Amino acid sequence: MMKEYWQEELEVSSRSSLEKLQIERLNKTIEYAIQSPYYNKLFNKKGISPGSIKNIAQIQDLPFTTKQDLRNNFPYGFLTLPKKEIIRLHSSSGTTGNPTVIFHNRHDINSWANLMARSLFCAGVRDTDVFQNISGYGLFTGGLGFQYGIEALGCLSIPAGAGNSKRQIKLMQDYGTTVAHAIPSYLGRLYEVFEQENLDPKKNTQLHTLVIGAEPHTEEQRQRIEAMFGVKAYNSFGLSEMNGPGVAFECTYQSGLHIWEDAFYVEIIDPETLQPVPDGEYGELVMTTLDREAMPLIRYRTRDITRIIPGKCKCGRVHRRIDRITGRTDDMFIIKGCNVFPMQIEGVLLKIPEVGSDYLITLETVNDVDEMVVEVEVKPNWFSGDIRKLDQLTKQITTQIRDEVLAKPIVKLVEKGSIPRAEGKAVRVADKRNNGLK
Ligand code: AMP
Ligand code: ZN
Repeated sequence: MMKEYWQEELEVSSRSSLEKLQIERLNKTIEYAIQSPYYNKLFNKKGISPGSIKNIAQIQDLPFTTKQDLRNNFPYGFLTLPKKEIIRLHSSSGTTGNPTVIFHNRHDINSWANLMARSLFCAGVRDTDVFQNISGYGLFTGGLGFQYGIEALGCLSIPAGAGNSKRQIKLMQDYGTTVAHAIPSYLGRLYEVFEQENLDPKKNTQLHTLVIGAEPHTEEQRQRIEAMFGVKAYNSFGLSEMNGPGVAFECTYQSGLHIWEDAFYVEIIDPETLQPVPDGEYGELVMTTLDREAMPLIRYRTRDITRIIPGKCKCGRVHRRIDRITGRTDDMFIIKGCNVFPMQIEGVLLKIPEVGSDYLITLETVNDVDEMVVEVEVKPNWFSGDIRKLDQLTKQITTQIRDEVLAKPIVKLVEKGSIPRAEGKAVRVADKRNNGLK
């Protein structure tokens, strides 16, 4: 019989046996954690000891861990094992101050590779595929994280790295790439290069699947990518603190992302009260590693906003699904008294066919008034066209954004290529207001 799941015994088990495994693994995790300077001090103070968890709800008695805790104890404060046992570190850039660094021993790397293989298998990738990983290899987890998973699954891997679109296209053609992984904001640019080269990815490649993730994107963006490349595009979610990719992944039903609950304990909390919210309601994702030895993290506050999708998935997997990330507790901005998530604006823009794939939201103070300026790249044939049409389009976008977020934006249509491209993940918001985020 054809294999349907990567690890049938874990993926289609019952909720009760999954919970049993979680309790076992949580106690083991505490056993490891208590060996790190940070948790040792904290747990001793709070009287937490290994073996003390008898039912999984007791996890709520454990303290949260935040990015600031990681920064304050940089670099080795969370390490549970002697350095001799550690074989790799990854670190995340982004904000100022100490980076966030995560250490792995061999067990951790193997477990991560297995989760990645499971994730890819669940999105329909098989060992017969040729997999091009368009992702930075280095401290960023998207390169090596995928690489080990692709190899564990047994695909022919092409460790292409990020950027150099002409070369990416050539690799696709030379080796008959069938699956590729990239961040969604890059795929629009890659498509432009296909067009410049007078190539159509639908006709001139063998791609059938794209794995997209590492940054927020909307359903509209996914659908555009699927239409441009003639593929199925699957959402991949992860964060360096939880290894990187391979945390939650869409199955072929594309109805939410299965979050691997045998490796991570998942809570959704109200970020204000810190209490759990019922399934189906949005809140902040909090995660505990259940299968990591070198650097376990307990109740880590991810700042990502999502919800548990109630009900079972048609694929039969026992792991619950989270919805696509709608934003972060920290990327929401307030303008003219309205709470705005950048993804709401993207949702509006990408429904408009004349709009290209890049945009930039700048928040600035003009004559003491805070304004939201939205620069939008429009498709080339539109820019050279009729001024009246451009005016009409500007008005249309302005009204639609205002209807969505309730604050009126200043919309500026710009030529394709005029918004500066970020090296890695796309930068969508620039806050230049006098008082910063309000
Ligand atoms: P990093 O640790 O630098 O890889 O960044 C992790 C963060 O990227 C997460 O906490 C999310 O905010 C974001 N992220 C990763 N994957 C996705 C995804 N599929 N959709 C939305 N945001 C994502
Ligand atoms: Zn499913």
